[in-house]
Amino acid sequence: MTTLITSHPVGDSKHRSSESERLFEKACKVFPDGMTRATIEKDPFPRYMAYGEGAYLYDVDGNQFLDLNGNFTTLIHGHGFQPIVEAVQRQLSSGSCFANPTVHEIALAETLSARIPNVDQVRFVNSGTEAVMFAIKAARAFTGRPGIAKFEGSYHGAYDCVEVSQAATPENWGSKENPNSVPFYHGAPKSVLDETVVLRFNDAPQLEERLKARAGEIAAVLVDPMPSRAGLIPPEPEFLNSLHNTCHDLGIVIISDEVLNLRQGYQGASARYGLQPDLLAMGKIIGGGLPIGAIGGRTEIMKVFTSENGRPRLPQGGTFSANPLSMVAGLASMEALDHQAFEHLESLGVKLRTGLSKIMSERSLPFSVSGGGSLFRIHPTAELPREFRDTFEAPRQKAVMKSLTRFFASNGVILPNAAAGCLSTPMTEKEIDLVIDIFDEFVREQESEIAAMETN
Ligand code: PMP
Repeated sequence: MTTLITSHPVGDSKHRSSESERLFEKACKVFPDGMTRATIEKDPFPRYMAYGEGAYLYDVDGNQFLDLNGNFTTLIHGHGFQPIVEAVQRQLSSGSCFANPTVHEIALAETLSARIPNVDQVRFVNSGTEAVMFAIKAARAFTGRPGIAKFEGSYHGAYDCVEVSQAATPENWGSKENPNSVPFYHGAPKSVLDETVVLRFNDAPQLEERLKARAGEIAAVLVDPMPSRAGLIPPEPEFLNSLHNTCHDLGIVIISDEVLNLRQGYQGASARYGLQPDLLAMGKIIGGGLPIGAIGGRTEIMKVFTSENGRPRLPQGGTFSANPLSMVAGLASMEALDHQAFEHLESLGVKLRTGLSKIMSERSLPFSVSGGGSLFRIHPTAELPREFRDTFEAPRQKAVMKSLTRFFASNGVILPNAAAGCLSTPMTEKEIDLVIDIFDEFVREQESEIAAMETN
């Protein structure tokens, strides 16, 4: 086995974590739940980070970790990428934000538009949530309809309607033909549930039937070409055909949420998988590690942001939208993502997924691996899921997946929950071998628990 990085995971009695524990105690006094993001992992408390360098993170207790999270897939160049650091430093001394446009927003918009099919024009915002929200509002303003359709289990940020059925369970998700609109939080408005149609990914007949039944009410279908929370599985060609044809026939706008998946290729994920969106929501990598979101799309629809008789159909502003720090960091990030960088990420991704699959098949393990480009997800099922419902884990599967994340942490690798991780450009074959070796060691050590998983 490859030599493991020295590591000291949080909550592991062998290793140091006292400073993280102390900080969490302080944090619990000022933050509900001790944190300001529900998505932060704690086991039993979060690991506080001191700094990052390339593909690695260093915590406040002096431990080193290979970072397969990359701030939720944002840091495609890893930590402290020099062209981004220099661009931000230069801009910071000239001003961090103005109530005026800068040359930098034009440069970043030109870069996105030149690469990504169907992105004729762009509007910048501050997060992926905001990008999805304005893409939906743009579709409403274009069609004059209030409703949207989205896919069960897919994550699209925190706008009310996109949260519907994000965390559906077998107890409340309803039939396969007519999935329920499941509220995400206590007090979610009933009007929002009524205006959100829930579809199932990779089920063409169901999509056609449900959209036709609500024709005239639906402004947009919101689709992530490879929804990570719903399995990180690709769209099937028949499903995409049906999506295109039905939306075309019913005058429904297709919004591709590429906030996460734009990192799958030079032209993004829709181009890679054959999805033809009218609008795209973007974020994460296009800001180089600073807050950003963007709505892009065909001129005909982006016109809703253009003033007509003194007022656009959809006004959109934002104090920090297109702030020059995010713009210059984003431009440095995207310029470094040339064809060569994507080829590097692709070859690492293929090596990783192939290496993991080989262990799974040679040992006939009840695991599979999905993903594309620099993304991967390990599933506790021998067969790959086709949609969100197939990814629902029974208690024993959940327990094994939790041990997998812990095992990686105890070997110096941050593998996010649900074993969905991402790679970054500073990584090399050495890091990929390390991840494969740790997985191999895990399945040898946990043989009986893994075997018991199948008897659920
Ligand atoms: N859409 C998708 C597909 C995402 O993965 C995310 C964030 N993980 C969002 C939207 C929301 O982006 P943000 O966290 O920047 O608001």
